[in-house]
Amino acid sequence: MTATLRLLLLMLLPVLAWAESLPLPIGQTPVLPGPYMQVWQDPQGQTDFAQVSALPDSAWRDVGRRDASFGYGGSAYWLRLDLHNPHSRSFGWVLLIGNPLLDQLDAYGLDGERVYRAGDQRPFDWRWVEHRQLVLPLNLETGETRRIWLRMQTDGSANLSASLMTREAFDHQEQRSLLLQGLFFGALLAMFIYNLSIFCITRDRNYLWYSLFVAGFSLYQFIQLGFALQWLWPNAMVWHQLSFPLSSALATLFGIHFTQGVLELDKAPAPYRWVVQSLKACTWLVVAMALFGPYTPALFGSFLLLVACAVAAFLITLLRWRAGFAAARLFALGWFVLIAASLASILSGTGLLPYSLLTLHAQQIGGLIEMTVFSIALAARIRHIQEAKRQAQTQLIAQERHLRAEQARHLELQTQISESLEQRVQERTATLQETLHQLSNANLRLAELNRRDGLTGLFNRQTLSEELTRACARAERGKQSVAILMLDLDHFKQVNDRYGHLAGDACLRHAAQRIQQRLRSSDLLARFGGEEFVALLDNTSLDGALDLAEQLRDDLARHPCPYQQHSIPLSLSIGLHAGVPHDPSCGEHWLDLADRALYRAKAGGRNQVVSYEAKAFDGA
Ligand code: GH3
Ligand code: MG
Ligand code: MG
Repeated sequence: MTATLRLLLLMLLPVLAWAESLPLPIGQTPVLPGPYMQVWQDPQGQTDFAQVSALPDSAWRDVGRRDASFGYGGSAYWLRLDLHNPHSRSFGWVLLIGNPLLDQLDAYGLDGERVYRAGDQRPFDWRWVEHRQLVLPLNLETGETRRIWLRMQTDGSANLSASLMTREAFDHQEQRSLLLQGLFFGALLAMFIYNLSIFCITRDRNYLWYSLFVAGFSLYQFIQLGFALQWLWPNAMVWHQLSFPLSSALATLFGIHFTQGVLELDKAPAPYRWVVQSLKACTWLVVAMALFGPYTPALFGSFLLLVACAVAAFLITLLRWRAGFAAARLFALGWFVLIAASLASILSGTGLLPYSLLTLHAQQIGGLIEMTVFSIALAARIRHIQEAKRQAQTQLIAQERHLRAEQARHLELQTQISESLEQRVQERTATLQETLHQLSNANLRLAELNRRDGLTGLFNRQTLSEELTRACARAERGKQSVAILMLDLDHFKQVNDRYGHLAGDACLRHAAQRIQQRLRSSDLLARFGGEEFVALLDNTSLDGALDLAEQLRDDLARHPCPYQQHSIPLSLSIGLHAGVPHDPSCGEHWLDLADRALYRAKAGGRNQVVSYEAKAFDGA
């Protein structure tokens, strides 16, 4: 059964392998020749055209896909295509190979025996048509059918992306394409210059990173679209090969720096920083691989890195957004667009996504959208920073106001304190003054007390001698008479003995009081000793003194001292001396004279007054 089937298949194979020839188009719409093509894979890439053209039809298989895409692998692919001109004249056609990164493309049967050799690993001036892509011109006579052979070999994506059109349609499409590419790179250039200018003015590093990111991306696109080889380095094959993954890795690196700065990942939790650091390390690894390593791993590395970074950036941005980082919203959108575009581009490179104008330009469109979104986000960031600055300023002003209020309060408090301090000092001073006043009063009282006798309240002996000296001096100066009376209670010892010492004290007070009330205010009465008193009478003559002494004696004799139930009779003996002193210091002497007179009075029987007269006394 299986053998029969295999036989049937083998018989049918040439028929299956025979694809019909492609009628050349004459309209404006290009035809994708994939379904008319047949392929033979040469893994070693050693087979030459003679060998390949001798291959049996059975060795060939249909391409099937419109874009003739075989993914990455490094094999050489031989393709054959039968073309047919059914039109009444020859128009001149072009087979456009849309992938300018093919390392090598050879074409046989285009122009007789002449072999077309081109590709980005061959000098640019080998190309028949000077164009960023590979342009294969064709001329078929009316009714002519021709088989052409293509050999493609590349380290990158073996994707032919071929389209067939008339020369006229090609020129038309070219004009539109160049306009679009010009707009695309013009927009990128504008963004680059704009953000670089902002960096120069603001010195905000994020703008520099963004400008470099745009520059890296632009270069990557410039290389990918074939412009770089055409205009920048038409003969630098080695550099051209490594420039593609290198530009991709550099764009990624700048993108990481930019994202890190804008989302302030330096200040974010540790896991964010680890991710950023590892991605940076990977980027450097890819840069090194692009510079020194083999092409294919570097290319894959750069693709993987780009996708990894875009996904990581997208996730980080989302997380930052959720963490309250408002500016992250636009960035998330930008990264999402880039991821989608990159995936579309890579998938179409591997052949998983069918070739179309959209997939061909997906990365360009996505990149442009992304760059615009980032640019807007950066502008929004300026506003955000301005707002933050304004808020900070407001906060600062509020703080300053608060500080001023605090200061004012402080000052007020200080004033209050100093006022209360002053008040307290005043109070203390008043108290002190009062105390001082009281003290001086007390001192005065004390001084007065010092001048007085404790029992009778009369002046004491000390005061008497002071006043005596003064009175004598005064009398001597004024030539006035002064009198000194010495008074002694009679038999006072007996009073003490009979009534007791306390009764004696009462009698002393009684006698003092009775004597005092008969004297003038200008007179001075002092207690001279035990029961002896001295009266100093200013401006008093002898007669006046005698008269007063008699009154005193009589008064006391008639007024006994009341003590408890007793009435104690008392009597006074008085000796006196009066006259105008001639010597200002006669005081003590006169006192002595009065004492002598008193002695006479005692001797004379007591209860009497005796005046000292010089003759009578000195003569006796
Ligand atoms: P004469 O008539 O000679 O003066 O007799 P006299 O007793 O009064 O005199 P004398 O000098 O002998 O005695 C004085 C007495 O006075 C002795 C003492 O007991 C008494 N005397 C002195 N000072 C005080 C005193 O302060 N209080 C009392 N109660 N008695 C006093
Ligand atoms: Mg006496
Ligand atoms: Mg006496």
